[in-house]
Amino acid sequence: MAAAAGDLSADVVVVGAGPAGSAAAYHLARLGLDVLLLERQELGRDKVCGDGLTPAAVRELVRMGVDTSAWQRNRGLRVIGGGHQLHIPWPEQRSLPSYGLARRRAELDRDLAQHAAAAGARLLTGVTVTAPVTSAAGRVTGVEAVPTPRSPEPGIEAPATISAGLVMDAGGVSARLATAAGRAKSERRPLGVAVRAYFRSPRADDAWMESRLELWDGPAGRSDLLPGYGWIWSVGDGLVNVGLGSVASTPAAASARGIDYRAVLGRWLEHVPAAWGLTPDNRVGRIASAALPMAFNRKPHYADGLMLLGDAGGMVSPFNGEGIAQALMAGRLAAEAAAQAAARTTAAGRELALSQYPAALEAQMGGYYTLGRIFVALIEHPEVMRVCTRYGLPRKRLMRLVAKLLSDGWERRGGDGIDHFIQLLTRMVPAA
Ligand SMILES: Cc1cc2nc3c(=O)[nH]c(=O)nc-3n(C[C@H](O)[C@H](O)[C@H](O)COP(=O)(O)OP(=O)(O)OC[C@H]3O[C@@H](n4cnc5c(N)ncnc54)[C@H](O)[C@@H]3O)c2cc1C
Repeated sequence: MAAAAGDLSADVVVVGAGPAGSAAAYHLARLGLDVLLLERQELGRDKVCGDGLTPAAVRELVRMGVDTSAWQRNRGLRVIGGGHQLHIPWPEQRSLPSYGLARRRAELDRDLAQHAAAAGARLLTGVTVTAPVTSAAGRVTGVEAVPTPRSPEPGIEAPATISAGLVMDAGGVSARLATAAGRAKSERRPLGVAVRAYFRSPRADDAWMESRLELWDGPAGRSDLLPGYGWIWSVGDGLVNVGLGSVASTPAAASARGIDYRAVLGRWLEHVPAAWGLTPDNRVGRIASAALPMAFNRKPHYADGLMLLGDAGGMVSPFNGEGIAQALMAGRLAAEAAAQAAARTTAAGRELALSQYPAALEAQMGGYYTLGRIFVALIEHPEVMRVCTRYGLPRKRLMRLVAKLLSDGWERRGGDGIDHFIQLLTRMVPAA
């Protein structure tokens, strides 16, 4: 049923019911705030993604009380490259579980949005937010929204102005509100591109997330190695998600490469063992690709009544292209700051509390993402990629470190020698 115009104001308006928006809406509702979650599509829409959830993402889902018992589980990474194959189980850690998950985004995003609604968030689907509403002083005080054209059940009947004390842009890589508010993406941060497809596979019960490190930009063995990896992992129901992602240190470097990633996927598939059954006949649905905004490429994450969450704030990891864990975490941190602000009695106090959100993001990910930018600058050289693959993979301890570093699976405090080493590294560099 569509909302009447009179209902259209809230303490917080969250734009986009992906992982970032639904996590924010869930935590906001649990903290007692009146929250309106606006999504332009219908629940259960497809989303271009690898569907992989590392232990860091599982931790956030547990914090939200999401029931994941029926979801596809995995034990760790199987890394293949340079003639080597290595299994790296997810380690049992104080703050992280020893398993990952995979869930098709059509289902994951539907589950999370419904979870937020069950917690008390007002969810409206079929509502496209077109612009921020801005006061004379330049503060974002709401949004303009229209019923999504051709939506089967538009959540509003007519174009509407929705007012709110705080607006969160969780609208994904397009970051429509952020862009309209003048927050352009940085041209100096890494940008990734990834492409994926689903296949029916006889190996769809495989318990490992397979990563293949040899991606060629032309004929295998006779062209350059691309910085990135290909993946195959089970998402349940007899299906595997198959894809590849590559990264460049800047958007300009990414477009200078001029690579057709679907063609790279096609060539790469020819070298995947036949046992996976990744044939055209087994493909289900379309091959789709999208950009990965990385390493905080859009800032500030809070100013003038507008917060940026998830891909809208460029939160994808430059280490592995993962963005769901970060989106869920951003939702939680944004909600915590919003709830603190709501309890303040002065405008200055509220602003101070809201500024805790970007500060918390920097504390959690700032140094880590600076390291990620250095990592991308290194692996951009095909020779570095070649040497790492050939000589790094056989070294088990080194690979345990690499797995923790790349999957954000390291303890921020305490932990083992590897955790301490990564903590030291992230403290030695300035925040991203
Ligand atoms: C091929 C590929 C593979 C990937 N694989 C993985 C992986 O395996 N694991 C992982 O962790 N990450 C992966 N990622 C990254 C991950 O998909 C994103 O980082 C993640 O989806 C970010 O979540 P979000 O909530 O910020 O944005 P999104 O998931 O993009 O959600 C944004 C939502 O906002 C809605 N919206 C947008 N504009 C408006 C508007 N104007 N009005 C109303 N609603 C709007 C959209 O419909 C959407 O539902 C992959 C990305 C790609 C491209």
